[in-house]
Amino acid sequence: MPSAETIMLFAIPMFFVLIGVELLAARLMRRCVYRLNDAINSIGLGVLSQVVGVFSKLLTVGIYAWVVERVALFDLPSDCVWVWLGALLLYDFCYYWLHRCGHEVGILWAAHVVHHQSERYNLSTALRQSGSGVLLGWIFYLPMALLGVPVEIFAVVAVIDLLYQYWIHTELVPKLGWFDRVFASPSNHRVHHAVNDRYLDRNYGGIFILWDRLFGTFAEERDDEPVVYGTRAPLRSWNPLWANVEVYWALVKDAWHARRWRDKLRVWIAPPGWRPADVAERFPKPAFDIARAEYDPPVSTTMRVYAFAQFLLLLALGVDFLGIAARLDALQALAYAGMLLWGLVALGALLEGRARGMRVELPRLAMLAAWPWLVAGWSGYAGFVDALSIALPFLAVASLPILLLAWRDTRALPVASPL
Ligand SMILES: [Zn+2]
Ligand SMILES: [Zn+2]
Repeated sequence: MPSAETIMLFAIPMFFVLIGVELLAARLMRRCVYRLNDAINSIGLGVLSQVVGVFSKLLTVGIYAWVVERVALFDLPSDCVWVWLGALLLYDFCYYWLHRCGHEVGILWAAHVVHHQSERYNLSTALRQSGSGVLLGWIFYLPMALLGVPVEIFAVVAVIDLLYQYWIHTELVPKLGWFDRVFASPSNHRVHHAVNDRYLDRNYGGIFILWDRLFGTFAEERDDEPVVYGTRAPLRSWNPLWANVEVYWALVKDAWHARRWRDKLRVWIAPPGWRPADVAERFPKPAFDIARAEYDPPVSTTMRVYAFAQFLLLLALGVDFLGIAARLDALQALAYAGMLLWGLVALGALLEGRARGMRVELPRLAMLAAWPWLVAGWSGYAGFVDALSIALPFLAVASLPILLLAWRDTRALPVASPL
């Protein structure tokens, strides 16, 4: 069985092939399910989550392996198919509870919210993953470690569970009859991403939706109630860092302002949306409006083309990073991850039409131009990106006039950015 990392690296091209298929199908069906800024934000958050995963694996897999080695009740063999199938089933069960708590407990929602921020629902939404889920998520899988499920099986079934959920993020696949009542499917997962009262906090299952039917959280998609996607407190930003911390920050602020100590603690474990009465009174928030307009700040077509081209380049670098991260030392890996993050933040600000975008992007182009010299001493830096790395100075220099043009066009737009 290949390792979890190998499966993920092979899955990445499939993600993009299927996005192409979805775009084509949408065009044939005369539907518009993608927006460039939203898709860049979602896929960028997926890259970020994988990059963070490189650093956090020690924590998650490390703790799991430690428990299996020292406390496990059984010594389960890795070459038995029943152990694999049982592990997948058990993983999906643990995932159900992690996912459900992710919607019902404030601090866990702070980690999970990233997956729900998109106001569109398409395959890029599936890639939209949190960077901080690893902080507490591992606790929910400890029963598997206690039972003695070997760490290599755990890592592979975790990737299988995640990859299964990719295809269900689409509006283009209709209801599938009995399938929708047994497995997680496009129809019942659309309900999960809804903010409508009728659908809220339903259908948590990863592979099996049976868990929801068993524990009373199942809801069926209805033709008379179209799904509205997103969160009840919309993100309204393309900044991937802010996307990851927005709810933590809101919780910190509420805990800080609460007068009673009990409330300061309760903020973290109460359901999302709960606020201490005194804080809600002093710092009111706008009421949820299901008819709100989608977040779509205007930028010029040239800026969209520029952002798309730079994003493709960042994706290539992101895949490169995942491929070579194990060969880099900690500081080099951090520097590379920082370079990727810098790019994602810059593109987000440019797509918001903000002047700050230019202040972040111009020095980034200078850094890209200097990249081959910056990594010259990195012994682990080799492979296909040698070619990319050599091309970076040329690409950076060629990007500059396009960026300046894109910014001029954006500034000239008749409608000013709403921000
Ligand atoms: Zn969810
Ligand atoms: Zn989802």
